[in-house]
Amino acid sequence: MTTIKQSWAEPYKIKMVELLKMTTPEQRNAALKEAGYNTFLLKSEDVYIDLLTDSGTSAMSDRQWAGMMLGDEAYAGSRNFYHLEQVVQEVYGYKYLIPTHQGRGAENILSKILIKEGDIIPGNMYFTTTRLHQELAGGTFEDIIIDEAHDAENEFPFKGNIDMNKLEALIQKYGAGKIPYVSMATSVNMAGGQPISMQNLKELRALTSKHGIKVIHDMTRVAENAYFIQQKEAGYANKSIKEIVKEINSYTDGATMSAKKDALVNIGGFLAVNDWDVFEEARNMVVVYEGLHTYGGLAGRDMEAMAIGITESVNDDHIRARVGQVIYLGEKMMEYGIPIVLPIGGHGIFVDAKKFLPHISQDQFPAQTLAAEIYLDSGVRTMERGIVSAGRKANGENYYPKLELVRFTIPRRVYTQAHMDVIAESVARVYQRRNEIKGMKMVYEPKYLRFFQALFEKI
Ligand SMILES: *Cc1c(COP(=O)(O)O)cnc(C)c1O
Repeated sequence: MTTIKQSWAEPYKIKMVELLKMTTPEQRNAALKEAGYNTFLLKSEDVYIDLLTDSGTSAMSDRQWAGMMLGDEAYAGSRNFYHLEQVVQEVYGYKYLIPTHQGRGAENILSKILIKEGDIIPGNMYFTTTRLHQELAGGTFEDIIIDEAHDAENEFPFKGNIDMNKLEALIQKYGAGKIPYVSMATSVNMAGGQPISMQNLKELRALTSKHGIKVIHDMTRVAENAYFIQQKEAGYANKSIKEIVKEINSYTDGATMSAKKDALVNIGGFLAVNDWDVFEEARNMVVVYEGLHTYGGLAGRDMEAMAIGITESVNDDHIRARVGQVIYLGEKMMEYGIPIVLPIGGHGIFVDAKKFLPHISQDQFPAQTLAAEIYLDSGVRTMERGIVSAGRKANGENYYPKLELVRFTIPRRVYTQAHMDVIAESVARVYQRRNEIKGMKMVYEPKYLRFFQALFEKI
């Protein structure tokens, strides 16, 4: 007898639905032109399936919504803050908590505290807001991710790993005194949601401890990373996601968190540290940028929803279904021969635009072009992760990233398997007529994080 496979399935049922607007090709053409061919500038009303981001787009549970009603909207010492603090300590294992309005609020405060002018910040691939705050604080980001991460076809299971030789070379070159911390991300977003292994984290801890360098964890998608460790790393198959998350965090000194991802809320974030001195300074600084240290720019109800969301996010069945849906979409695309980044990551599918549109040079924005074409075909909204997102260096030159990708990010608990089918079919249709597609030129470029507001025209 053949063994019948056990499919992933949602560990929840649907209680309320949001109706979507269906559009015609003519309507989509007009909407896209109006948006300057930048999917960030489309009105969400004109979008059918929105895969722009998994940030703040998750569906909250009935328990989280019930928690919103328990919001204690006191200016200081809200009971929801203490609940959140207790959950962060228990689930994540960090000692001190500073809530912030979202992840970049925490990045701003942390960068200002730990970075001095001229410092070097090594990290496993940059993230847009993280690197910008490091630069604004006077630091220079240095990429120390393993080379495999820059190769869309390499199937190494832990492409988020840090290359210890690259880190050691930086310590040799600049001295440990110039390196306040290593900026380590789990589920490396810009590499396609690629995980870092526990083994690599242990090595990182050993090397940084020797030199007195801190490890700051961008833990935005730590639970998704934990799932890959559970599935692929020797010795973790029988450990729970909760145990693995806690072990990951134990090799780090503090974390910045965008709770809009893993933690299943629409807004929120925090800074968490183990070091009292850093906490003291952060508690003081948060008042300037976010709000008092017991709310950090959030309403009491937001902190309550976050506390409940964190607990739900480390549930094994939740994560299996979450990543299962992403893998389902990726495999469907592969059946149509579409070039995607492998292995499939935790929060979305990344289509390789250089291979999809090899006749369009990077200066003519292949990924931006492909995202526009997919919207035109079906109303599915994706985003560019390539030369537009990479931006310019301090000296004004463009970064030319090796990876030129279109990101299909899947919101948590929002879409169904039938939606995944519709998405894959749409990309397959665009793939069929790929040779007719022409590139674009940028006609407006904002100074910071240009991908959000840049405007384009078809060539
Ligand atoms: C989203 C994100 C951030 C920034 O968080 P915001 O909540 O958007 O400010 C930082 N790091 C990573 C990896 C992210 O995905």
